[in-house]
Amino acid sequence: MILLDGKKVAAEKRAELRETIAQLQAAGKRAPKLAIVIVGHNPASETYVANKIKACGEVGIEAEKIAFEADITEQQLLAEVSRLNHDATIDGFIVQLPLPEHISETTIMSAIDRRKDVDGLTPENVGRTVQGLPSIISATPRGIRELLAYYQIPTEGRHVVVIGRSNIVGKPIAMLLMQRPYLSLPSMSAASLGDATVTICHSKTRDLKSICLTADIIIVAAGCPKLLTADMVKEGVTIIDVGINRVDGKLVGDVDFENVAPKAAYITPVPGGVGPMTIVSLLQNTLQAYMLKGER
Ligand code: NAD
Repeated sequence: MILLDGKKVAAEKRAELRETIAQLQAAGKRAPKLAIVIVGHNPASETYVANKIKACGEVGIEAEKIAFEADITEQQLLAEVSRLNHDATIDGFIVQLPLPEHISETTIMSAIDRRKDVDGLTPENVGRTVQGLPSIISATPRGIRELLAYYQIPTEGRHVVVIGRSNIVGKPIAMLLMQRPYLSLPSMSAASLGDATVTICHSKTRDLKSICLTADIIIVAAGCPKLLTADMVKEGVTIIDVGINRVDGKLVGDVDFENVAPKAAYITPVPGGVGPMTIVSLLQNTLQAYMLKGER
């Protein structure tokens, strides 16, 4: 069993980013800048935002946190999105999810200029990804692809089972892995990721076990501890565990790691697997937006 060490890979990717940004600055260019909008005081969101800001600092991306109280209206938030869309000093921005219930996430996401949408969540970016056009890919799916590429795990012709159908993980990773591989990332080392046969499972799927038993690669993003158990996987499977759950004060994924890992050829740990890759992908997306801006 080989551990897919997201922490190590993300550190290497951050070093590459740091180098690129230092070269840009040495050539007299300004640093890329990311803005992060956060609404309310959700403790998990506060932690994620703090981690993203810290990671920006490590590679030389300027970061600005823009905080609003939970009672901000949708109109006021839309006005802020519009301001950021037009602010030439900001290369990319994200609106940290979830938003309070009185604000429609779809409305806010739809208002973000796709060229600054470094979370890759606007309908335009998602649609372009589906059609295989150049787009900004959302951070977690991008990170998963980077991890598979780094360990040279082929997907062509293989059966990938994705558990979870969210807009931020399940749907986009399924789409990317079934694409023809022309949609490769600039930083990608493996030539062909894609061309997989993909099955998407969710909470209404019947007999998840027999579907998983036919999988060469399983990507779990459900938010259920120990959802994937050893009897559900075949020998030699590759497992990407996206889940983040807190059980008895400990962070765990969606996989019964202890019992599944011995059967797996490759598996991500939680923490230290997909999480660090997600953050570094956001930084890569910010640099991508900065570069695109230079071309406009
Ligand atoms: P979500 O929370 O929006 O939805 C969960 C999905 O899992 C749904 O599509 C649901 O149908 C499916 N599901 C739930 N229970 C199931 C079951 N018993 N069997 C089959 N399918 C089931 O999804 P999300 O936002 O993608 O988050 C999923 C998990 O991934 C969460 O734990 C979240 O914290 C984590 N996450 C981690 C990262 C990271 O960087 N590591 C990034 C995003 C999300």
